[in-house]
Amino acid sequence: MRMFQVCTCGEPLQLNEQPTPQPTGSEVLLKVLAAGVCHSDLHLADGYFDLGGGKKMSLQDRGMKLPVTLGHENVGEVVAVGPGAKNVKIGAIMLADPWAGCGSCAVCLRGDENLCRAMRSLGVFTNGGYADYMMVAHPRYLFDIGDLPPERAAPLACSGITTYSALKKVATLKSEPTVIIGAGGLGLMCLGLLQKMGGHGAIVVDIDPAKRDAAKLAGAAAVIDGNVPDAAQRIIDMTNGGAWAAIDLVGSSQSARLGFDSLIKGGKYIIVGLYGGDLTVSLPPIAMRALTIQGSYLGSLAEMAELMALVRRTGLPPVPVSTRPLKDVNAVMDQLRAGKVIGRVVLTP
Ligand SMILES: [Zn+2]
Ligand SMILES: [Zn+2]
Repeated sequence: MRMFQVCTCGEPLQLNEQPTPQPTGSEVLLKVLAAGVCHSDLHLADGYFDLGGGKKMSLQDRGMKLPVTLGHENVGEVVAVGPGAKNVKIGAIMLADPWAGCGSCAVCLRGDENLCRAMRSLGVFTNGGYADYMMVAHPRYLFDIGDLPPERAAPLACSGITTYSALKKVATLKSEPTVIIGAGGLGLMCLGLLQKMGGHGAIVVDIDPAKRDAAKLAGAAAVIDGNVPDAAQRIIDMTNGGAWAAIDLVGSSQSARLGFDSLIKGGKYIIVGLYGGDLTVSLPPIAMRALTIQGSYLGSLAEMAELMALVRRTGLPPVPVSTRPLKDVNAVMDQLRAGKVIGRVVLTP
């Protein structure tokens, strides 16, 4: 089988070949039908996240071992199962939740595998879907996609679950407009899911006019250029005193400043994006204005089950998806790095 791997950080993915593995124990082998290309793949290929102020967080220090096959938004066909893999049928088309924990610590046992301290995430710490086949550790990570097209369902595994979990943290979702910062693939997914969850409306911020247009077309109540100096004030004016919730899908110093500064008393700034940077805030106003700063990282298996049920009930969010053959993965990553992707690019065999 072919697999595209990070062999050296900072270099293009390398095409390697190996015999297709056979599942043992509870493992399930999928033939990959669709693998979404996510912005975090760029960080994974680089080998670090930018912490701001010149500091970096090395992924190899955090347990990423090379070479590793990237690709964490995958849908595949079950082609082989281990003797301990129950309730999964050969030929089924399944979405693989990549956010596997160790499965045995207290955090995993309470259901938050996405917050395990010894994660085994597919396409990060274990081989992912930029390959002909991939191994999933246990059937509990597999979700039936029903009639959904594989290339449209695949982004639910990262972009979908990440934004769904962030939206679930917004208590005012149905009564107040929510600010969404960033209208790339993640932003359009967030907007689409907000609508399906019965959200009151969204004010979408992006510095790119093409992405603002895409958000407007997708039903944003208002769009704002994040580069204008009074962007925060515009949000405050539009929301009658400030936003109750701002979801920051960018996570840069600039976007964090904007999200935090646009809040009303009691408001919540939710940071999701991993662009990199830092934020300096005065402490007394956090207390006096009863503000919340909350991180949101991926989502739990229970949230994935909820998300799949929501999508089966209401249809997929209308995120633009284009497909490219797996062999073009490096070209697609270059395009993403250059900011030239609207929506999601999904690799197919
Ligand atoms: Zn991702
Ligand atoms: Zn664990």
